[in-house]
Amino acid sequence: MSFQPFDEMQKAVDIVNDSPHPVNKIAATIFGYDRQGRDFSISRTNYWPEIIEARLGMDTDIGDSSGTVHAETACLLDAPVTEKASLCVTDPICPNCAKNIAEAGIKTIYIDHKGFTKDFSARRGNAFSNMSMQICEKAGISVYQLWRKEQRLEPILHTDKTYQPAQDSPLEYERLYGVITRKSFADYVEKMRHRHRGRRFACAIGRDRVSGNVFSLAARSHPVIGYSMANDASLLRDSENKYNYMLEPMNRLIMGAARIGVKLVDGMIFCTNVPTSRELVNLIGAGITRLYIEHANKALDEAAILAKRTVTNARILDFINLEELQALATPIQPHEKPSDT
Ligand SMILES: [Zn+2]
Repeated sequence: MSFQPFDEMQKAVDIVNDSPHPVNKIAATIFGYDRQGRDFSISRTNYWPEIIEARLGMDTDIGDSSGTVHAETACLLDAPVTEKASLCVTDPICPNCAKNIAEAGIKTIYIDHKGFTKDFSARRGNAFSNMSMQICEKAGISVYQLWRKEQRLEPILHTDKTYQPAQDSPLEYERLYGVITRKSFADYVEKMRHRHRGRRFACAIGRDRVSGNVFSLAARSHPVIGYSMANDASLLRDSENKYNYMLEPMNRLIMGAARIGVKLVDGMIFCTNVPTSRELVNLIGAGITRLYIEHANKALDEAAILAKRTVTNARILDFINLEELQALATPIQPHEKPSDT
């Protein structure tokens, strides 16, 4: 069965007024096939994760981010698998969602034509055309403007089907067998700390959303898919102030897990540094309440430290010191060399 983007867009439009956001009501639908080949379609609005709404309310910022999860990202967090899926959105996408969408392996985006006529879109116009679309182009995503009544599609960005984005630091993941205990998680974290010595990374245990198979996953910070440090250094340096082309390790981990259809296991997630404000909100949106951390006071910016304080005080997300985990781990043998890639 082939999906009709018009029907999928209609599903998003049908729920857009359910968005709790007082001004910017946005909805999206993700659709595609799961790993068993069954079709799926999930629609979400932008929203405040329940625990954020209950403990902080809708007006409290988390660091330099609002407490909302954007509709596009909400779809990515809930889909059975995001690789090669398509996305319908009522409004032009922001660069942060574009980065998530690229990392999650989405191949086609449809944007409702009405979204381009709103105030909100005008305010966001430059970021959309200068950044979101560049990110999509590099990632090999085709983007269409969609008219529901006329059932018309017009390409904004058409990408050749054979285009393969450069990927020089893909998500590392591996199927695990047997029972996963806190000790085996502790051993895995130590192994990753040894391998990625001195670098910022995040790793976790996850479960396949359909089969329940268990995986280990790890990701470093890296420019968004299709960009590389070697080829795009100048662009990466002078990106627009509010947004940039880097993806931090936690967001890469969350989106990498979504891409392969794996749900992160709460309490089995580790990050070297404090995630950024936006990463923390996405993590909370993914249902996570506990995070092991190595450098509890090191972050990319001051806002992240502030965000950490806010979510800790509100008992939304607990940061647990790495030492607690290390106490369980088997020490790494001195002859094991770290990788130098
Ligand atoms: Zn967004």
